[in-house]
Amino acid sequence: MIYASAIVLGFLAGSQLPGAPVMRGSSATTVVMQTTAVKHDTTKSDEIMAEAMTLMPGGVSSPVRAFKSVGGGPVVFDRVKGSKAYDVDGNEYVDYVGTWGPAIVGHADDTVLAGVTETMQKGTSFGAPCALENELAKMVIDAVPSVDMVRFTNSGTEACMGVLRLMRAYTGREKVIKFEGCYHGHADSFLVAAGSGVITLGLPDSPGVTKGAADSTLVAKYNDLESVKKLFEANKDEISGVILEPVVGNSGFIVPDQAFLEGLRELTKQEGALLVFDEVMTGFRISYGGAQKYFGIEPDLSTFGKVIGGGLPVGAYAGKREIMENVAPAGSMYQAGTLSGNPLAMRAGIETMKILSQPGTYEQLDEKTGKLINGILDAAKEAGHAVCGGHISGMFGFFFCEGPVKSFSDATASDTAKFAKWHRGMLERGVYLAPSQYEAGFMSLAHTDADIEKTIAAAKEVFAII
Ligand code: PMP
Repeated sequence: MIYASAIVLGFLAGSQLPGAPVMRGSSATTVVMQTTAVKHDTTKSDEIMAEAMTLMPGGVSSPVRAFKSVGGGPVVFDRVKGSKAYDVDGNEYVDYVGTWGPAIVGHADDTVLAGVTETMQKGTSFGAPCALENELAKMVIDAVPSVDMVRFTNSGTEACMGVLRLMRAYTGREKVIKFEGCYHGHADSFLVAAGSGVITLGLPDSPGVTKGAADSTLVAKYNDLESVKKLFEANKDEISGVILEPVVGNSGFIVPDQAFLEGLRELTKQEGALLVFDEVMTGFRISYGGAQKYFGIEPDLSTFGKVIGGGLPVGAYAGKREIMENVAPAGSMYQAGTLSGNPLAMRAGIETMKILSQPGTYEQLDEKTGKLINGILDAAKEAGHAVCGGHISGMFGFFFCEGPVKSFSDATASDTAKFAKWHRGMLERGVYLAPSQYEAGFMSLAHTDADIEKTIAAAKEVFAII
């Protein structure tokens, strides 16, 4: 089918934030272009999803996978390797979701798989101490200056639940400050002004969350220190701490101002509260040592997940010895897990971290991601669309609006209907992007120049027809 469209759009440049993270916008021209849509057969995916809908709510095990906000059915994956995903109809995609972040060295990396296969011969779960836990814990402790001790969990959600209980146990205070649009997993206390799938589906804060759980969660505006100060003033000596995504990935990609992070560090100290970086997404993604190393800020506690599990289910909370020793059985704050620290997940994490610790890996991720995001923004500009975006290392994002986007409310200016059309066009052309305007994208070491060039070529075609 031949599509033709005329696009005339206004534009304002996105801001250039200080420091290394690069944020930019695109500018408007008037274009009339034509392109040919490709054949994209999804017969088998559609069949599997039709059955899945009868078996699981929305047909999925996690909401964003259902593609609700971008329309059209999701494709069902058959296998993944390197930078690619292959669906059940045999379509190949350059994958920038990377199983939502963990696949940083590429999917099904041979070394990681060999390690996991070897470990698996000894069993999959011990429910008893395992030397691999020490090895992965030491890797995290060595890489992250603020971390003296680690507790492993099975997911980022669990890690955030644990850290919240620890914040309260350590300070003896109940309230917590989070930021609008930040996501810290689906524990009750965090489903207040939450990002990720909660925004994507346009849900208000979830039914089933008790008033009690929500009342102790205070919400501030990202990159707005004043909004945090006001909450501390109004809740004197009641706030256990502040938790944030040190680079936001769950309302799209939003970079923190250095002064904002420094201000939070200062303020929490003054108020006798803890500063907690939720690095489930940014940990070992932004740098070997996380966003805290990149920005040179030492939080009191941190959470990790995704990358440190190399594609197996993992989470962790970690921090200063004095605080962590309150966790059972060293201390009295209870938290546990049948499969926590299992050898398979530990080994996948260790092998992934070994690859990441090689010199030049993050420079490589940064260069590739820069090339990708600049290519996409240039393509948008050429076609006259207002799109802004940016990246740090192998994490990136863009918004279908003029920008700059510095908080969740800025992000909501995005043209999500246009994004949805663009997303489908990219999918049809073999590029798998997060099916939501409010999610970040992820590059891996396995992505090639050819992958990036293919993506940019597809972006040009699709921008011309939406
Ligand atoms: N915190 C952040 C910053 C996240 O990005 C996520 C998941 N995307 C979580 C917590 C929850 O992790 P999980 O999905 O593993 O429970």
